[in-house]
Amino acid sequence: MVDRRIISNAWSEGERVDLLIENGVVVAEHIDPASVECPAVDVGGRLLLPALAEPHAHLDKALTADLAPNATGDLRGAIDAWMAAEAAGRFEPVGMANRIRDELRRLLLSGVTSVRSHLNVGGGVGIEHLRVALAVAEEFTGVMDVQLVAMITMPLTGPGSEPNVVALRDAVDAGVHLVGGCPHLEPDPVGAIDALISVADADRPIDLHVDETLDPSMLTVLDLISVARQRSDVRFTASHCVSLSAIESDRLSEVADGLAECGVGVVALPQTNLFLQGRDDVQRIPRGIAPVGVLRRHGVLVAAGGDNVQDPFNLVGRSDPLEAAALMVMAAHESPDDALNLVSNGARAVMGLPECGPRLGSVADIVAIPARSAREAVADASADRIVFRAGQEVARSSVVRSTVVDF
Ligand SMILES: [Zn+2]
Repeated sequence: MVDRRIISNAWSEGERVDLLIENGVVVAEHIDPASVECPAVDVGGRLLLPALAEPHAHLDKALTADLAPNATGDLRGAIDAWMAAEAAGRFEPVGMANRIRDELRRLLLSGVTSVRSHLNVGGGVGIEHLRVALAVAEEFTGVMDVQLVAMITMPLTGPGSEPNVVALRDAVDAGVHLVGGCPHLEPDPVGAIDALISVADADRPIDLHVDETLDPSMLTVLDLISVARQRSDVRFTASHCVSLSAIESDRLSEVADGLAECGVGVVALPQTNLFLQGRDDVQRIPRGIAPVGVLRRHGVLVAAGGDNVQDPFNLVGRSDPLEAAALMVMAAHESPDDALNLVSNGARAVMGLPECGPRLGSVADIVAIPARSAREAVADASADRIVFRAGQEVARSSVVRSTVVDF
């Protein structure tokens, strides 16, 4: 049986549209809503955009800023705050499940239908955070795609690595969707990536925190490219890539060509990079955002994500990809259209998901928002949104505004 749905009274790319959706895919853009008998949602002239995607979250850390106060505001302060709160037992499973549920709900209300989240695995926590996240993600089945990444504590090779390698195996056995870690912090970056590959099978992609530093000499992204050249059967994502923003343009071009050749996706993370990077500089403060414009021009798959949301690593954050998009316009000089793509279909491509949106033949994951253009949607980022998953309404936020002045 065909599942038919209509989204009517909408705008898309400058024209009025009434969409017919069959089995979750847009099959017509200009139908007469009265001519088809099926559930219909009138979006009141709102603009339709592709659903948003969050390619890099930390659900186990989200919304912990007040549980783990960062005394100094910098990276060291964040790590100290996190470890102290963990040692004090503040991250018990019920509280973490509630925060993860809350965060996923906040993202859904923002128009997000696909999320990739890293979770601390290994060290003292084993796969505890992952188990909590897997259980909560189950509650969102059919509403959001939730991809969970086991972010393995270092080291993954050499002395002290054994419990982390055990946790990596446990995470795979528990059904984690991807594996990852921070090779730039490892004593042997290539060995660490190889260790991840040897435990994850070829169907399980690898998403790494790469070179989260402004030190231009730290380029473990080159190690990743050399491994990816040998392993075309493994899908890689490189998150952060901060040091790429600090190297010479010729060098950057070479790296970009390597990433494009190997199909490695790059995720820029403006919120956390702006919050944590460049704190030692008082003049010409660097931004630390991966140079996605250059990477895109070299054919690299690029995306932007929110990373930390109201936790010790970033005290603010709205759980709204339109915040990341606006920052990519202001701080990374992307056009509004390109910035929007970074947090919608660009992010989906990095996540291995098909294109979505209000266009013919696309998956009907759509967000309706009061705006006249994509630029205005990114600029105003109205909280008023209607969110559709495969053509079905799955979330709605309304905003009431008034003034004492008559217009
Ligand atoms: Zn991260």
